[in-house]
Amino acid sequence: MISVHQLKKNFARLEVLRGITVAFEPRKTYALIGPNGSGKTTFIKCMLGMVLPTSGKILIDGEDVRNHWRYREKTGYMPQIGRYPDNMRMGQLFDMMRNIRKGAAHTDEELIDAFGLRQFFDKRMHTLSGGTRQKVSAALAFLFNPPILFLDEPTAGLDPISVEILKEKILHERLKGKLLIITSHIMNDLDELATEAVLIQDGVVRFSGTIGLLKEQTGENRLGKAIARFMSHGFPVSHPQQP
Ligand code: ADP
Ligand code: MG
Repeated sequence: MISVHQLKKNFARLEVLRGITVAFEPRKTYALIGPNGSGKTTFIKCMLGMVLPTSGKILIDGEDVRNHWRYREKTGYMPQIGRYPDNMRMGQLFDMMRNIRKGAAHTDEELIDAFGLRQFFDKRMHTLSGGTRQKVSAALAFLFNPPILFLDEPTAGLDPISVEILKEKILHERLKGKLLIITSHIMNDLDELATEAVLIQDGVVRFSGTIGLLKEQTGENRLGKAIARFMSHGFPVSHPQQP
């Protein structure tokens, strides 16, 4: 369970997050939605302890993330842009991560195999295509079987077959009862993967609830349309009751 209270983040004079209050419950899959530059990546990095909030509180399973790090063992993260040491070979990268996380009981190497990454294990990271690096990021996010997963634009830059592999994996992890928080600009992907939506606009949460509710209240049956309608009109003040 993640609870966020009045989270604010400024970069110099730019107020990116202006008081985010929201809860992410276990066993649910959230689509984190917002226009470009609305602070989705910043928000995720705050929850991971990678960006220091200006003010506000983030609790993960009751533990304040500020000045703590143990909770990070519960999290997996697929960054929007994965950066890796240029000269490290892919195999060394996975070995290094396993070494850092010696305590992990077992590793989940399903994606390494599904993406066929072993054939690249002796390749240096800087020689890989962007898509292959994305696959590495995805495989690393799931490697230690964490109960909480943050996936920032997970399908961006992947070929269609790899997109399907990753979606299968996400749905599989969802069924296992993990808490997933996913951003994407591909609304159809989110519609398939998530059941909850958190919409950020102008630095605050404009909507938090089920995707079903969002569709019902906007009268749209596609997530993309429902979001667009909500962002331009909000919910109607009253709506006709279903007969
Ligand atoms: P999103 O992921 O929703 O597209 P981001 O969280 O990446 O948005 O960025 C939100 C805003 O914060 C953008 O205007 C971006 O330029 C700015 N920003 C993000 N990180 C930094 C940083 N380290 N320093 C200064 N500005 C930043
Ligand atoms: Mg982003």
